[in-house]
Amino acid sequence: MLSTDPLFGIVPLRTIVPEAVDPALLMVLLGPWSGAFAFLFGLLWGSFANVVIYRVPRGQSVIRPRSRCPSCSEPIAWYDNIPLLSYLWLRGACRNCKHPIGVRYLVIELLAGVLSFSLYMQFIVQPLAEGGGLGLMAWLLWFVFGLALLIVTYTDLDLWVIPNAVVLPVSALGLLAAVVEPNWLGVPAAEAGIAAALGYGLIWGMRWLYKKLRNLEALGLGDAKLLLMVGAFCGLQGLVWTVAAGAIQGLLVAIPAVASGRSLTRHSLTEVHGDDPELGTETPGSVMGARVPFGPFLALAALEFVLLRDSIEAWIVALLL
Ligand SMILES: [Zn+2]
Repeated sequence: MLSTDPLFGIVPLRTIVPEAVDPALLMVLLGPWSGAFAFLFGLLWGSFANVVIYRVPRGQSVIRPRSRCPSCSEPIAWYDNIPLLSYLWLRGACRNCKHPIGVRYLVIELLAGVLSFSLYMQFIVQPLAEGGGLGLMAWLLWFVFGLALLIVTYTDLDLWVIPNAVVLPVSALGLLAAVVEPNWLGVPAAEAGIAAALGYGLIWGMRWLYKKLRNLEALGLGDAKLLLMVGAFCGLQGLVWTVAAGAIQGLLVAIPAVASGRSLTRHSLTEVHGDDPELGTETPGSVMGARVPFGPFLALAALEFVLLRDSIEAWIVALLL
């Protein structure tokens, strides 16, 4: 279904198109087990996200070797590597050396579980309940996007890195989806391409300007590639929301944190990337002289757009008209 949008021309409406669904399948998909499955599915991928967050920025394979305890190097048995449960029955410590396992592993697994469940409610239960078709592809695609946002949030907080190996393939997936079936993500292919290019170009342009005017390496291209991915999945409105809300929320968190002398990241930028003389202090990526990673705030804003899209789009249109 198409409608004329006063701002962006023709856009597909994400309204429910009536579609016949096998009643037996409907019973299964709307039953409690499907919701539990969606949550478990998310937990498992959250466990994988933990591996990616640790290994990919360090150039290690995500498949081999098996996970080891970072303290005693003992390989972790499969039964001690079950999402959520292992953490609880080992009481958050290595079975061998009793070294504590960070609660963050558990948090990331739970976040991925909740993300998968929320998307299941939004893209499978809601359309089915309203008489529409199956949003299986939408659920899967948005889950991949959300998981990528979760991963880059933590790699950026840990090591100031937004891995290409995560954002570039996921960007390509979003663009491909828009070409194959624009209704999956609710963004026409041309808009997805333009938004991706604008997202990348915005950060690239600011970086170029700062280099030219002040000779400072102000922003990393990691943020540019993150916005490329956001544009590919969320289109123009999603990009506008992500940049604006990301910047505002970043300042709201960063100013009190910097003022009270707390760091948002695990390591300082110079600790990770060396004493690069080009890393200035008066940069767009800094708040009151302290460097603040922008990636986690962009990721949070993009996730808000995914989960609250209809309200946000209505709000953007109302603001601009
Ligand atoms: Zn151990």
